[in-house]
Amino acid sequence: MGAAEVIAFEEVRARKQWDALRGQLHTRFDQWLDGLEAQLQEPTPTLAQVTETVWNLRQELTGGLTETIVAHAHRGESTRQQTRCPQCARCLQARAPVSRTVETMVGAVQIARPYFYCRPCRCGVYPLDAALGLAPGRTQLDVHKAAVKLVTEVPYDEAQTLFGTLTGVGLGSERMHTVTNHIAEGLTVLDVLPPRHEIEQRIAAVSAGRYRRPVLVLGIDGAYVPTRPDSARKPCAGQRRKRARRARWRGQWRDAKGFRFYLLDGERIVHVLSWHQVQNEEQLGEALKQVKEAGVIPEAQVRLCVVCDGAEWIWKHVQALFPHARQVLDYYHCAQYLHRVAKAHYGASVQALEWVEATMTRLYLGKVGLVLGGLQRMQAQSEEAAKAIANCGDYLNEHRGRTTYRKLRRGGYPLGSGGIESSNKFICHVRLKRSGAWWYEINSNQMLALRCAKYNGTLDQVFMRYQQRLRETSE
Ligand SMILES: [Zn+2]
Repeated sequence: MGAAEVIAFEEVRARKQWDALRGQLHTRFDQWLDGLEAQLQEPTPTLAQVTETVWNLRQELTGGLTETIVAHAHRGESTRQQTRCPQCARCLQARAPVSRTVETMVGAVQIARPYFYCRPCRCGVYPLDAALGLAPGRTQLDVHKAAVKLVTEVPYDEAQTLFGTLTGVGLGSERMHTVTNHIAEGLTVLDVLPPRHEIEQRIAAVSAGRYRRPVLVLGIDGAYVPTRPDSARKPCAGQRRKRARRARWRGQWRDAKGFRFYLLDGERIVHVLSWHQVQNEEQLGEALKQVKEAGVIPEAQVRLCVVCDGAEWIWKHVQALFPHARQVLDYYHCAQYLHRVAKAHYGASVQALEWVEATMTRLYLGKVGLVLGGLQRMQAQSEEAAKAIANCGDYLNEHRGRTTYRKLRRGGYPLGSGGIESSNKFICHVRLKRSGAWWYEINSNQMLALRCAKYNGTLDQVFMRYQQRLRETSE
């Protein structure tokens, strides 16, 4: 028999298998049609009546078809007589089949499969579950994935309602919470980083047709998020039903510190990666170091620039990790210092506003020397004014080298940290700042990590890690 004949034989076999499956699927469809017939009683239904009926029955059809395909593809498993114990490799004999129903996005799927038990190891196995990659519990990974995409956008209670209405799959908000916790557990910045080749693609897209390397901005900033102490977890003393009039704990606004790398494409911002957490300076510095060491930022392909306000700890990290990056003091942050001076020196007057405007223009033109000279010549009329003037002078003097705004503009560098401020908004505030919502630190950080993954385009990577962990715990 020649090779060509072998292939032909395989093809015929595959064709026959597929025809057999088709027959089974048709039977299944016919059964579903019986159910549909019983429900479509109205002789001249409106479109809405038809869609409602089909909608209500759709998961019976799609779940049923899935069940048939699974049973066909793994038909050897249902009659399996033996398997090896995963722990001691002893040969185990099949016991009576056990039926299990799992919930998926296309409906309930029932699976009947033999059970194997090793007495010495006290270990039971279902080889089919492993072959199908089933998650423990009733709801499966596709449901978890969809639920997490929803809860990273809306509060849990709302997610439960929307999920049920839009997908027809019932999943309680408590369960959504648990699944989210499992998926996000232990996520670090390294888990949500896009791979280097993807970042390179974004850089190449922005560089196309340009003479200069594009500017990659690193913005670092904090955003306040509402947190609650762990002590709030303690169960209520006294009667359960009576609601406490006031919470027994005090909420706290805490600083979610974060950084964002983004490319400038003219007026447009191209997101590269973000990491925001309720964390201290050391932890932020450590995360930034991990990004640097992961080697995902192609520093030679861009002109790196760091923009932030004057916080000393930020510059310390930046200097250590990216010594060649251009440093920019947020131009708009300077305005706050100047307004304080103007208010203390000129009071609430037109003169005050004019002075701020003129001074900002000087800064914009890169004349920080003139501004500093002007501040020195000001005759303070009060202690408050003297203090404001001294503060502003110290601030500008300390960051003098970071205020070369004229040169920076010519180089195409940004003057302000708008890019990080907007990621504070779309990553932190949008989901965490809801009326009445106070977050446990761990939950807020898990939510932030998932939202970073979403915007970094790495949610799939996070789900793969989750799947891997489920597999490891079930083994
Ligand atoms: Zn064993």
